[in-house]
Amino acid sequence: MTGNRDRGAGISGTGSWDAEADVVVVGFGGAGACAAIEASDRGADVLVLDRFGGGGATAISGGVVYAGGGTEHQHAAGHTDSVEAMLEYLRLETAGVVSDETLTRFCKESVDNLRWLERHGVPFEGSMAPRKTSYPTNEYYLYYSGNELAPPFSDTAAPAPRGHRAKGKGVSGKPLFAGLRSAVRRRPIGVRTQTRVTRLITDDDRVIGVEAEEIRGGPARWAHRVLSAANLKLNIYYRPLGRMLDRPIRAIERRSVVRRRFRARRGVVLAAGGFVFNRRLLAERAPAYRRGSSLGTIGDDGSGIALGAEVGGATDRMDRVSAWRFYNPPLALVDGVLVNNRGERICNETYYAPASATTSPGNPTPRPTSSSTNGSGPRRRSRRRVRRCGSSGCRPSTCCGWATRRPTTWRRWRSAGGSIRTDSSTPSSGTTPTPAPGRGTGWARTPRTCGRWRRVRSTRSTARCAPNRDSPHR
Ligand SMILES: Cc1cc2nc3c(=O)[nH]c(=O)nc-3n(C[C@H](O)[C@H](O)[C@H](O)COP(=O)(O)OP(=O)(O)OC[C@H]3O[C@@H](n4cnc5c(N)ncnc54)[C@H](O)[C@@H]3O)c2cc1C
Repeated sequence: MTGNRDRGAGISGTGSWDAEADVVVVGFGGAGACAAIEASDRGADVLVLDRFGGGGATAISGGVVYAGGGTEHQHAAGHTDSVEAMLEYLRLETAGVVSDETLTRFCKESVDNLRWLERHGVPFEGSMAPRKTSYPTNEYYLYYSGNELAPPFSDTAAPAPRGHRAKGKGVSGKPLFAGLRSAVRRRPIGVRTQTRVTRLITDDDRVIGVEAEEIRGGPARWAHRVLSAANLKLNIYYRPLGRMLDRPIRAIERRSVVRRRFRARRGVVLAAGGFVFNRRLLAERAPAYRRGSSLGTIGDDGSGIALGAEVGGATDRMDRVSAWRFYNPPLALVDGVLVNNRGERICNETYYAPASATTSPGNPTPRPTSSSTNGSGPRRRSRRRVRRCGSSGCRPSTCCGWATRRPTTWRRWRSAGGSIRTDSSTPSSGTTPTPAPGRGTGWARTPRTCGRWRRVRSTRSTARCAPNRDSPHR
């Protein structure tokens, strides 16, 4: 955010303060926690404010830190990497969205950044995932999390596994944020949760504090905590259910609050997440993604961005949204060919999820499954299907492993919205296949099991099951 005082509003600096600190951090997610730790370690007196209980999208995230250039864990797994290779790869991947200066610095400082996280209690490990996957099972914490292995990326930069997953059971956002939270707790940092910042307070051309609304103590505070925790979970699995809790949460935030003013002697850090849960702003700034299901927390309502813009901060790249659709695991599916509803191949099937969801030649409007980060729909459905597979000893987390090892998961692919065409000519040439007869059934050969043809029912978008010459698993 860059400042330009006279365009903004904010509110003037008169009146008493409820508390003060050198640095006030708005948002206790990953970014806010790191900023608070760094400021405190440099001698500042820090106060962190969060609308909810802290953690934000970071705590529900996959907890994968993209790091390279020769980290201890890459070495431990027997992989070499260099800053140059990482830079070349990311240049191609980001296609100019990030300035070269920032990208170079990110790659040069990558090893130190990972060490910083470890020093502050976030565990990592060099247990290398044995195959390409969107998210490794709980045995593995290092993997190829991007398109490093696939052309043209592998032609441009020496591939290296840079997906460092914070070590812990289940989705790794939890251990990632847990480490940062305890690092904050070990320092004299004030944390006020259930305190929503509503305005920046300015004095001439300086931001000198924030105004906030803190949920009143007692039943209101308890209800707000319980409802927002349930909302967080439900939003991941089924947003329509989570949405039902938005209203009571907002009602408490309107009716049961105390207005507070916090002075920032040296500065305010805005780390209040994104705007994917602000449907109006999404429709305005990134309309192609307005149909996607938002992923993150209702704290991603763009209020942090608005706070900065109000005092003259400039925004940029607000149209950049990533859409995700996962279909590996099971790995067998990358042996198939992913085509859009015109039968055109979308991209290399081993590509990382956002690539397949957004790059669709000829498909006018990309069909995001989620407009901020990894689609939970398909994954959720597949977990249910996995649970029904019923083979003895099958548990969801190991099921991912099971599904990857035994690629008979054609059904899982179908539940993620795929269907089958019987045309056997390979689609990689991009030819439009003969249209399958409307909705209905077709035959597909499960790529790497018995090879027998199976009867399956098609649903929405189309995909063709045919030998995929690109698949590295051929
Ligand atoms: C399911 C999922 C999986 C993901 N997986 C990965 C991954 O593996 N690797 C990766 O790099 N990225 C991943 N991401 C993206 C990543 O989680 C986010 O980019 C990152 O966590 C953002 O961190 P943050 O600190 O900016 O925001 P957050 O962690 O969201 O924190 C923002 C905080 O600000 C608070 N807040 C908001 N408004 C206000 C206000 N007005 N006043 C006070 N507080 C406020 C919120 O309550 C929240 O706690 C994933 C995201 C999701 C949702």
